[in-house]
Amino acid sequence: MNIPLPELSLVALIGASSSGKSRFAARHFRAPEVLSSDAFRALVANDENVLDANEDAFDSLYFVAGKRLARGLLTVVDATNVQPSARKRIVELARAHDVLPVAVVLDVEEDVLVARHEVRGDRPFGAGVVRGHAHDLRRSVRNLEKEGFRHVFHLRGAAAVEAAVVERVP
Ligand code: ATP
Ligand code: MG
Repeated sequence: MNIPLPELSLVALIGASSSGKSRFAARHFRAPEVLSSDAFRALVANDENVLDANEDAFDSLYFVAGKRLARGLLTVVDATNVQPSARKRIVELARAHDVLPVAVVLDVEEDVLVARHEVRGDRPFGAGVVRGHAHDLRRSVRNLEKEGFRHVFHLRGAAAVEAAVVERVP
């Protein structure tokens, strides 16, 4: 799938843990364009897995995203974004800065997610959490336009994620 992104976009990557969001972001965007919840948890709490730092981490992430959008800089939110409340903040932020909220959904097969999760050493939670994300994603995916995302790119399966091509458009 070709993913044309207007320069004035706030891009939400949406996908379970181990769906390949961070890998996708590293492949298709410049490092400063990508704001990841892991990086912000590490900044505010020294450790990317301190989940009780979530509120501070996301407040900080959205604050920085707002500063970037005010400068007209394309920004990517690398977080699971499988919860409607997380996506609501992204849509509101995009609207506040008059940029397009764009959803890129990494809809990877649940067995692939779990297999990847099992071999990761950097995620202290169980596979049940990953299955929970996949469940939340399935409930979410048909509502994204209604939530306010102006473009929705639904990558169905790991192969589609691998094959995606991101293109910048004016
Ligand atoms: P999290 O939400 O936990 O940060 P994530 O969606 O950012 O997860 P990644 O860190 O990008 O996921 O990838 C998770 C794991 O899956 C990594 O170990 C990565 O190497 C592996 N992985 C991702 N994509 C692929 C792929 N296409 N083929 C094989 N392994 C992959
Ligand atoms: Mg990641």
